[in-house]
Amino acid sequence: MKRLIVLVALSFLGCKTQDVKPTESYSEQADSYVSFLASDKLEGRDSGSEGIHQAASYIEDHFRELKVKPFFETYRDSFKIREIDAYNVVGWLEGNHPELKKEVILIGAHYDHIGLRTKPIAGDSIGNGANDNATGTAGVMLLADYFAITKTNKRSLVFALFSGEEMGLRGSKHLSSRLKAQNMDLYTMINFEMIGVPLNDRDYAAFVSGYDLSNLADKMNEYAGKKLIGRSDVAVQYELFKRSDNYPFYLEFKVPCQTISSCDLSNYDFYHHVDDESNKQDYNHLSELIKSIAPVIETMSQTDSKEIQLKNE
Ligand SMILES: [Zn+2]
Repeated sequence: MKRLIVLVALSFLGCKTQDVKPTESYSEQADSYVSFLASDKLEGRDSGSEGIHQAASYIEDHFRELKVKPFFETYRDSFKIREIDAYNVVGWLEGNHPELKKEVILIGAHYDHIGLRTKPIAGDSIGNGANDNATGTAGVMLLADYFAITKTNKRSLVFALFSGEEMGLRGSKHLSSRLKAQNMDLYTMINFEMIGVPLNDRDYAAFVSGYDLSNLADKMNEYAGKKLIGRSDVAVQYELFKRSDNYPFYLEFKVPCQTISSCDLSNYDFYHHVDDESNKQDYNHLSELIKSIAPVIETMSQTDSKEIQLKNE
């Protein structure tokens, strides 16, 4: 809200929104998004719970404020997990180029977590899910902030927050098959997972899963003008490529669909733990990462051709 007031005030003062660097207060914003999503009040955002319902409303309000439009009739893409009613939250910003806007870059993250289904410690039984994956969710919200202000994307951008990830990638499976059935021209899918803490002893800020599958990392580093994205041996060893919401999109569309993360469990002790709390996150790291990735996705949305490709198997 504070941000929006600043922007409205500035527009009254005749300042163009372009004058305001959209990434100015990203660290504060990231902190406020994660602190709400991972608060005890939301009880760990288990699929079908009251807590995840509040999380969804929070994200929808954010999209509405930014004028990020619902992709479907509403922001909610509903589906069932056994008897549980679950839903993804999906918004989009149409591209500003007459042809390229028909192509889509999907930016995603799961917003669910394991709720109270974790080992209680010292009377605390809430799996708050700050790093996993309120940070990824915050990353998607910050990118929506960026493009809602700059409006520089020539290709269309879809922002998707998935439910049911902790129950077997259920939300991304549902949405990917629905979009495939609609013949979406998906260029690439970029998923964010656990970006709350920095990697140690690496010459890159985050890794991409399925590194060897496409030229995504090379192109991102080329667009960034620095080594931003690298290859994690742990990610390869544990096939993280198949363990997050990028995978159902890869299976449906057979285009580069990969996850960006700065946590390969070598640098975080609170995975699926009651202490995965918002005060354990490094918001300077998170915001610096998103500040570097925003202009990279901007370039991805503007290239004349689809430069990011799968490598021949
Ligand atoms: Zn996760």
